[in-house]
Amino acid sequence: MADQLVSIVIPLYNEVESIGELTAWIDKCLSVDQLAYEIIVVDDGSNDGSWDKIHLLTAENTRIRALKFKRNYGKSAALQCGFQSATGDVVITMDADLQDSPEEVPELVRMIREDGFDLVSGWKKKRHDPITKTVPSKLFNWVTRKISGIKLHDFNCGLKAYRSDVVKSIDIYGEMHRYIPYIAKWHGFYKIGEKVVAHQARKYGTTKFGIERFINGFLDLMSITFVTKFKKRPMHFFGSFGLLTFFSGGIITTYLIAEKVYKQYYKLAVRDIVDQPLFFLALVALIVGVQLFLAGFIAEMMTQNQNRINDYLITESIGIDTNA
Ligand code: UDP
Ligand code: MG
Repeated sequence: MADQLVSIVIPLYNEVESIGELTAWIDKCLSVDQLAYEIIVVDDGSNDGSWDKIHLLTAENTRIRALKFKRNYGKSAALQCGFQSATGDVVITMDADLQDSPEEVPELVRMIREDGFDLVSGWKKKRHDPITKTVPSKLFNWVTRKISGIKLHDFNCGLKAYRSDVVKSIDIYGEMHRYIPYIAKWHGFYKIGEKVVAHQARKYGTTKFGIERFINGFLDLMSITFVTKFKKRPMHFFGSFGLLTFFSGGIITTYLIAEKVYKQYYKLAVRDIVDQPLFFLALVALIVGVQLFLAGFIAEMMTQNQNRINDYLITESIGIDTNA
């Protein structure tokens, strides 16, 4: 049955030694459970001969389909293209470097199909990575848990399972693959589960992400949070700050003028307006307030130009052709 297919999406960048071993390992694990599956390898612009290797593998194994990027666009882009090509009812993502174990796949698939999860994330409880990665990762996960409100231990685990609806409705770019559960939740997929998975040390090659992953990761978290909350109504964000700043500026200005008039009336000593620090504060507040308003207006105009209807995920309809 075509709708009972498992799609395994593998983003790959310079993993020539690993990929053959990985596909063989997947075949071994999945044949036991007699799961119908396809393997989609997305070569993210490798330059180590990975593509030639993938070419050979597809010739031997009809389950493997593959595509290659002209250059290295990043893991999120690779996942996104893999998601678009996936035809199964369950989509699994897995790193190409043999760190994730295909032995976990049958149980992940079962959790989606039978327990009704939208998304199940792997949790590398016992990790085989250097300490420079595990310690910052704990902090990263803690922050992401607090901000997203999703109780996962390991957001960045490469091994995850999705109901196909989930991957078809999300759009990831940059390095947003770390926050797929958060993005999925925003799209209304609330049933997010977790499964402890086995993890191996990297056998071949080196990690593709350096220490900058934590800085970029944090910036991505901020943009996702901002976009999820205010993409549809940017004026509410910029406008409220704009109002606040502009009115504080207005109040200070009124006070300065009132004070001056009062003192002059009662012939008290008056300071020049430009001698008062408050004056400069009022000036800055007024200008910044107007700027924020402008930012809000421009952002609103940009959202007007978007085809908003495509953003709404319709799950059911009666008597209406939603594909028209
Ligand atoms: N990857 C990719 N494009 C990139 C960087 C990485 O497709 O620009 C793939 C990589 O080949 C691997 C997975 O993403 O299959 C995870 O990468 P890596 O193992 O380097 O990350 P780590 O395990 O260190 O978090
Ligand atoms: Mg890895």
